[in-house]
Amino acid sequence: MYPRAFHYHRASSLKEAATMLSQLGESAKLLAGGQSLIPLMKLRFANPSHLVDLNFISGTSYIKEEKGGLRFGAMTRHAEIEASNLAARIPIIHDCAAGIADVQVRNRGTIGGSLAEADPSGDWAVVLATLSTEIRCLGKKGERAMPLAGFIKDAYTTALAHNELVKEITVKVPPKGSGGAYIAFKRSAPVYPTASAAVQLTMEGDVCKDAAIALGCVGLTAIKATAAEAALRGQKITDKTVSAAMDAARAAADPQSDMRGSADYKRVLVGGLVKRAIQVALRRARGEQVEVSHIYA
Ligand SMILES: Cc1cc2nc3c(=O)[nH]c(=O)nc-3n(C[C@H](O)[C@H](O)[C@H](O)COP(=O)(O)OP(=O)(O)OC[C@H]3O[C@@H](n4cnc5c(N)ncnc54)[C@H](O)[C@@H]3O)c2cc1C
Repeated sequence: MYPRAFHYHRASSLKEAATMLSQLGESAKLLAGGQSLIPLMKLRFANPSHLVDLNFISGTSYIKEEKGGLRFGAMTRHAEIEASNLAARIPIIHDCAAGIADVQVRNRGTIGGSLAEADPSGDWAVVLATLSTEIRCLGKKGERAMPLAGFIKDAYTTALAHNELVKEITVKVPPKGSGGAYIAFKRSAPVYPTASAAVQLTMEGDVCKDAAIALGCVGLTAIKATAAEAALRGQKITDKTVSAAMDAARAAADPQSDMRGSADYKRVLVGGLVKRAIQVALRRARGEQVEVSHIYA
């Protein structure tokens, strides 16, 4: 189906884009990679009267290292992150970028658009929830920054005001002795996961000093599995502690039955994904180079 007619506006700076949103009102939307918005417009689930295109603004797509952190411009494409040696310094970020859909989607889709969409099945929010992540926003009143946890409010809902946009995402590089992994179960590459698990560990010798675990596609937003994290924190990673983390992750999941599987199936699945992600995260924390791929049905 064709989208409903709309007016097209090309912004030449992020500031101009925010001003355009203010002037054009609630029926205006930003266009980034278009990988979520355009399909929704074609289905006529989204019917904006105005589109403000961010694609011709220079200097909005970058990955930079600064003060122990990485900064991602909002318009940085998934594929650029996948190919970046700098981003690979945090392997879980590479796992995420490399596993999103197919080459076409990764070449167009952006990290800023993905977070702003807040799709319950989106990968970035799950992975970034296991890291210290801040979202820098720009609006009429200037800039403000907030932690990811405060940015995503609900399914398809963020803390952004209508005339505000995502400018940058900053992520702290985890301390020495850290390793993470992101593993999803997918029916095929170009579809969203059935369930996913992101695990980030910091080890001190044999003991897990810190753990962050987030679950994807089993709730209206990414779920921080705090009881699962507690099952590992301060403990050795053994079959017993991993099993306790899996049980806690299953209990934290709140899945819906849908075309991807029943709620019970997804709860079982997420336990297995947490186990695999812990195993890879642990090896990476010990300094091993481990390639990881999603699991495809
Ligand atoms: C076939 C297919 C499979 C996919 N599979 C996956 C998958 O497995 N995992 C996954 O995570 N994603 C998947 N996606 C989605 C993809 O990752 C998109 O890139 C992402 O959801 C949206 O990014 P975008 O840049 O395309 O944003 P757009 O579609 O352009 O915009 C999405 C929304 O965000 C708003 N927006 C965009 N940029 C900003 C900004 N800077 N500030 C504020 N608001 C903004 C727009 O107004 C719009 O409301 C898939 C998409 C397709 C078409």
